[in-house]
Amino acid sequence: MICRKVKANLENLLFDPESVPADVRSHVKECTACSQELASLEATMSLMDEWAAPEPTPYFDSKLAVRLREEQRSEPAGLLERMRARVLFGSNVHLRPIAVGALALLIIIGGGTYAGLMTSHPATPVKTSATIEDLKSLDDNAQVFQQLNALDQNAQDDSDNSSNDL
Ligand SMILES: [Zn+2]
Repeated sequence: MICRKVKANLENLLFDPESVPADVRSHVKECTACSQELASLEATMSLMDEWAAPEPTPYFDSKLAVRLREEQRSEPAGLLERMRARVLFGSNVHLRPIAVGALALLIIIGGGTYAGLMTSHPATPVKTSATIEDLKSLDDNAQVFQQLNALDQNAQDDSDNSSNDL
C-alpha cells in the first residue's frame, strides 16, 4: 500500500523531498523496491542533464548556406505567396466559393502587392461599378495565383531534389 504512495510521490521525492509525507520518506529508505525505483529515476534525470545535442557535421554549415542562397534566389515565390496559392488553389484551378472571399480579404490585407497588376488595366470604363472592378481584380489576381502555384510546384520539386542531396 505504502509502495503505491511512494510511486505517486517519486518525482516529489527527487525534486522536493520536504513536500513528501514523512512516512513515505522513511519507507523509501527501508524498502528495496522503492529505493531502487527512486534511484533509477534519479539516474534518468542525471542522464537527461548530461545529454547534449550532437554536433552537426562540418558540412552542415556550408550546405545550409547554399540552401539559404537558393531560397533567396527563388524569392519571387515567397512564403506568403506560396501559402496563398496553396490555400486558394490547392490542386484545383477553379476558385472555390470560400476562396473567393478569402482572396478578397487577402487583397485587402495584402495591400499593394499586386497593385501594379490591378491598375495596369488600360482604359477601364469610368462607369464600371466598384463591384465589377473588384471582380476584375479578383480575376487578375486569380491568374497571378495560378502562376505562383505553378512556381510553387517547381520550387517543391527543386527542394525535393536538393533535400535528397543533403
Ligand atoms: Zn516500497
